[in-house]
Amino acid sequence: MVIGAGLGGLAVALRLAARGWRATVCERSGAPGGKMNRWRAAGCTFDTGPSLVTMPWVFEELFAEVGERLSDHIRLMPVHPLAEYVFADGERFMHSAALPDWLATVRRLEGGRAEGFLSYMALGARLFELSRATFFRSSPFERPDPTALPALKYFPLRHAWGSYAATVEHFFRDPHVRQMFLRYPTYVGSSPWRIPAMLSVIPFVEYAFGGHHIEGGLYALIEALAHLLEARGVEIRRNAPVAQIEESGGRAVGVRLADGERLPADIVVMNGDASRAPALLGRKDAHPLPESERSLSGLVFLWAIRGRLEGRAHHTVFFSADYPREFRELFDERRFPQDPTVYVNLPARTDPSMAGPDAEPMFVMANAPANDGDVWDEGAIAEARRRVLARLRAGGFPAVEGRIVAESVWTPRRIADTYDMPGGAIYGTHSHGRRRAFLRPPNRDRRVRGLYYVGGSAHPGGGTPTVLMSARIAAELAERER
Ligand SMILES: Cc1cc2nc3c(=O)[nH]c(=O)nc-3n(C[C@H](O)[C@H](O)[C@H](O)COP(=O)(O)OP(=O)(O)OC[C@H]3O[C@@H](n4cnc5c(N)ncnc54)[C@H](O)[C@@H]3O)c2cc1C
Repeated sequence: MVIGAGLGGLAVALRLAARGWRATVCERSGAPGGKMNRWRAAGCTFDTGPSLVTMPWVFEELFAEVGERLSDHIRLMPVHPLAEYVFADGERFMHSAALPDWLATVRRLEGGRAEGFLSYMALGARLFELSRATFFRSSPFERPDPTALPALKYFPLRHAWGSYAATVEHFFRDPHVRQMFLRYPTYVGSSPWRIPAMLSVIPFVEYAFGGHHIEGGLYALIEALAHLLEARGVEIRRNAPVAQIEESGGRAVGVRLADGERLPADIVVMNGDASRAPALLGRKDAHPLPESERSLSGLVFLWAIRGRLEGRAHHTVFFSADYPREFRELFDERRFPQDPTVYVNLPARTDPSMAGPDAEPMFVMANAPANDGDVWDEGAIAEARRRVLARLRAGGFPAVEGRIVAESVWTPRRIADTYDMPGGAIYGTHSHGRRRAFLRPPNRDRRVRGLYYVGGSAHPGGGTPTVLMSARIAAELAERER
């Protein structure tokens, strides 16, 4: 029994079905996908959540390990250049996926030196080799896999223990290059000043394996997985919220739906936010994830823009003028920034099938705190929209306000309510400090036998490839226990 048809829930159900389990997925909403969601308007297709996938081999591995070929189901499209970065002082550059071009950019900015970048990537490569055999492959508190031991030789002796920001500042001198690398921790909803340097693996994997789009939108992956599951007899029950995980003798024995229906099961896999499990188990001390422990949420505007946005990059980041201040506002003051960094995704620049006949999809996102009490009424949205548009205008983006023919706004409140995530925290807990970064909720419950966790709120963390890794680990643990 899988609770939730998010990416992790679908992937674990597919892996279990391929190993001969009879699986059922219960999803509280009317469609699978969770945060990997889709919206259509004015002939345009929008991904409402993720817009970039990294580590494509993780996706290929999922299909291969269930006896399929990824390319028979979806088409991954490398995005080139990876992104354009636009700074408040007028500097701008392309983050080219072609190494010679990118080294030329780094040399221009770093006073003729590219050694800092190359050394930083060498650190990232060691961290990747280490993570690939350990953190990405097994859950915390499980017995160590002896085949992972040789990877310990990659353990970096220097620059791995400090703060992420200090490490970036060690390798780069130019404030623009520094700001670009400081942004990567937001891929796990965290602050660069608070996460450990070990997470330097994130910029490495993006550069080493590229950034990818999925033809037709990332939701095509959800459709492919749902189709494979249904073809293999796995039922995805829509509008089926689970109200309770049933337990007997210290073992999960099934679930009870909100309408009272009971579904017995040999194992239960929780794909909803891991912090919700104690409440579903009826624990008296269950409490929602405290705000101080939550990863970032986001404010997303989906705009169908009349005409075409020729000459723009697929991904552009418009940086705020004062990045440390932005993170103080997000994590200390817990408010939407005065001057937000704005990310713009124009998928039709790579994939024209996403555009309508007279309009093009534009996804605009700014980080926001995952608070419970924030009221995202019309006034608050209008003010945030004004700040977002001011940043785009300052960065030279064409004035699009008069060309918006359809709009959908995703506030942290809407993310929280739609997917039942505390405060709309996209990645569950933040990764601040070593304990939070490396000891996320494990993939197997330590007290209730037969209860497993997959998805961004569990180990190894948020983001589409790591969510798929959690499904692999959980399916292996379940199989080992069978
Ligand atoms: C705006 C935004 C931008 C993002 N950008 C990126 C990106 O560029 N790249 C990237 O890799 N990742 C990105 N992510 C993160 C990525 O979407 C997630 O990490 C991933 O999709 C989470 O998958 P999951 O398996 O944790 O499931 P979720 O998507 O969290 O789905 C969980 C499912 O469980 C269901 N559920 C919860 N409780 C119950 C219950 N009691 N009963 C039944 N069903 C229940 C929910 O309805 C939901 O469908 C982004 C996310 C958002 C929101």
